[in-house]
Amino acid sequence: NNSEIEKLYCAGQIVKETLLMLEEFIVPGVTTLDLDKMAEEFIRSKNSEPGFKGLYGFPFTLCTSIDEEVVHGMPSSRKLQEGEIIGIDVGSIYEGYYGDHAKTFSVGTVSNSKKELLQVTKDSLYLGIKEAKVGNTIGDIGFAIQQFAEKKGFGVVKDLVGHGIGKKLHEEPQVPNFGLKGSGPKIEAGLCLAIEPMINIGTDEVYTKDDDWTICTKDNKPSAHFEHSIAIMENEIKILSE
Ligand code: MG
Repeated sequence: NNSEIEKLYCAGQIVKETLLMLEEFIVPGVTTLDLDKMAEEFIRSKNSEPGFKGLYGFPFTLCTSIDEEVVHGMPSSRKLQEGEIIGIDVGSIYEGYYGDHAKTFSVGTVSNSKKELLQVTKDSLYLGIKEAKVGNTIGDIGFAIQQFAEKKGFGVVKDLVGHGIGKKLHEEPQVPNFGLKGSGPKIEAGLCLAIEPMINIGTDEVYTKDDDWTICTKDNKPSAHFEHSIAIMENEIKILSE
């Protein structure tokens, strides 16, 4: 209902502002733990709580995933270096409702292939969002993302998916970044989703590192991740984290 969507919007605005705040600090020499601390303080200053910290036992506010790391990277004392790309995923809880948002940033100047990867991943997210309208199905979202990214020669991660969002971070339905037109559950007004393509320069195959969290590409080539939380209304798609 509308009051729930209003709270999801507030939670979405907090994660949006968190990434905007962090952007200027994403430079060579900063550690991912520094970024994590700044994000936690910022979120707590907004009458909100970090959405990931403690969830499933994850100990941090941010997921920070560098280069070949796809998602769920753990903040650490590792310093960012010129030419790396870093995916930052952040969650918030505002009055019991979750926000979930991710962007991949360049550290200084990056290669042209990384630049293209970032652009294609971001564009694929917006193409997916456009399909998330009443009358379509969840498969239409994944179809749009997959078609676009694969045509550019990139790998679309299949092992991890987007999700419904609300009083829980991960709700039904699952939202794959691949699929067939017209497949999956029908999209109805009031549905709230987190859409989050994970796109690789090379293979779509991934594995989990020894820390049991960090997902990496099998060929060690770079990966990017962009995510928005959205609310599907009768006549429009509202991006909650924009
Ligand atoms: Mg998510």
